[in-house]
Amino acid sequence: MTATPTTANATVGIDLGTTNSLVAYCDASGPRILPDALGRALVPSVVRFDAEGVVVGHAARDSAADHPATTISSVKRLMGRSLRDAESDLRYLPYSVVAGAGETARLSIPSLRGGPRVFSPQEVSAHILRALKEQASDALGIQVTRAVITVPAYFDDAQRQATKDAGRIAGLDVIRIVNEPTAAALAYGLGAGLSGEKFGERVIAVYDFGGGTFDISILRITPAQAEGETSFFEVLATSGDTHLGGDDADHELMRRLLGSDPEALPLADRRTLKREAEALKFRLTESELANADFTLVGRHVTAEVSRAEYEDLIAPFVKRTLELCSLALSDAARTLRRPNPPPIERVIMVGGMTRTPLVRRAVGDFFQLDPYIAVDPDQVVALGAAVQASILSGQTKGALLLDVIPLSLGIETVGGAVAKLIVRNSTVPAKASEFFSTSVDGQTSIRLSVFQGEREMAADCRRLGEFHLRGIPPMPAGIPQLEVQFLVDSSGVLNVSAHERRSGKRAALQVIPNHGLTREEVDRMERESYAHAREDMNRHRVVDLIANSKLDLKWIGDRFERFKHILEAENRVDLQARMETLQEFVRRAETDWDSVDPNEFHRAKEELDRASVRLQEVGIAMSLKESQPKV
Ligand code: AMP
Repeated sequence: MTATPTTANATVGIDLGTTNSLVAYCDASGPRILPDALGRALVPSVVRFDAEGVVVGHAARDSAADHPATTISSVKRLMGRSLRDAESDLRYLPYSVVAGAGETARLSIPSLRGGPRVFSPQEVSAHILRALKEQASDALGIQVTRAVITVPAYFDDAQRQATKDAGRIAGLDVIRIVNEPTAAALAYGLGAGLSGEKFGERVIAVYDFGGGTFDISILRITPAQAEGETSFFEVLATSGDTHLGGDDADHELMRRLLGSDPEALPLADRRTLKREAEALKFRLTESELANADFTLVGRHVTAEVSRAEYEDLIAPFVKRTLELCSLALSDAARTLRRPNPPPIERVIMVGGMTRTPLVRRAVGDFFQLDPYIAVDPDQVVALGAAVQASILSGQTKGALLLDVIPLSLGIETVGGAVAKLIVRNSTVPAKASEFFSTSVDGQTSIRLSVFQGEREMAADCRRLGEFHLRGIPPMPAGIPQLEVQFLVDSSGVLNVSAHERRSGKRAALQVIPNHGLTREEVDRMERESYAHAREDMNRHRVVDLIANSKLDLKWIGDRFERFKHILEAENRVDLQARMETLQEFVRRAETDWDSVDPNEFHRAKEELDRASVRLQEVGIAMSLKESQPKV
């Protein structure tokens, strides 16, 4: 059963993850995940581009190893980043990353229809978001168009803007970008006034150990004390390792099972080994002793691994996460200008690896607290995003939530220093203005460079963009009065404007982050996505139909060969004809997807399914007979 929301513009919460993504919705009964038609909650964040179109999610992930150059995973690592920013990640990515306009990281996909194409990370993410949007729309039975999307607390302005743009390309109105740890806290009702408890300011830790990344965030929550007041979520510190996660544990188990370096194995074997190692890891979460028993090409592997042995294997990774926790705690002390780290009142566990008993024990010992594990660690961020969505759309009563700006924002002044207009941890929306002037007589144009960061010199901060205010009448140095205004909207996206007061000159001044897309690009992609919506949907349907029809043809064909002698002649001829018809649709669709009408294709498949009912009955009866014990 699916519930229908009371309002037509339901706002969903989306956890757009590096490995997996989820979508959730919150109504009066609380937040819940919206699964796909097969009941699966997670959508792998994997997109494949091929001649037939775009494949997203499970299908793309499961066949990734066969299409390394055209399958994009971990695109989150490239969002809003320049090629240089992303350099350390490139060796982990099997596809080709190239420089686009303004040195942005772009993905180059070979051998598509009409030659190779270059995509922005935003476009790739938009495919994932579109899949989640459709999944949510199907589950709720209405067209979902509004979302809250989560990002890591350390994402800068360009990365947040890129995430928003991806939403827009996917046809989603992104009403807020929220920090992942903030969402996790909300899922536990902390600060949202949902739990009904009243408390003062409290500092919590969010320990997020996923498949490929580790993040620790220290948050301060100042909850609303009365209805209608505001809760503050401040990120006091973050730390982490973008290449530390469950994959490392899998790799250790792979070596243990093989007794040698898995890299030397053929690809197919390595895949089998990885799957078996991960399954063994899951069993070791549940029991003290677990077995592996499987076959690689030309080799049978059996092993018995105890939890103690597994814990020895992963102990260095767990230790590293705790070192990063220590770092974050000292950073939090620095933010608060206190000599010691603040006492932590709660630790929230996020990410699948936090199911591991050793991880829970180690985190509990480190913080001297029982970690919060009640909410599924894979779902907690998406559920919290749904809570936020519900608060914003007025469905959930409770305090209004404001997020904060993670890094200070400012303008470069003469000599390369940065004048900060909005300081870190200001709550959003935030607005500030300051006056500047010229440093040279007769200067008629001023260049303004916008920076983000905590350091004093522009060279040590991150340049977000620049613009010129031109047409100032010549005046002596120091006379022009240039008012620069910064406005950070409620999603943490920055708009800058400048105005020369004496001449009244204004500039057309929206700061486009260097590493994001331009407005025009986003507009174009949005238009394109509308223009291609029907075509994309048809292509998607045909691709699905080809795969499902092949399965049907194989299954029905096998049984037909075995049992056709038992079928009535009329049914036999009918079945044969329908199989041939469907086979012909598959053949034509595989040659050119556009040459078939998806509705007719679908009908042919349904007709074959219907015609095969008798064959299925015969098959079941025969196999029951075969499995009867012989007396
Ligand atoms: P996430 O990125 O949050 O989806 O975390 C996924 C990681 O958690 C993967 O490395 C999974 O293998 C791991 N994981 C999921 N479930 C378990 C479990 N029951 N025990 C141990 N690790 C798990």
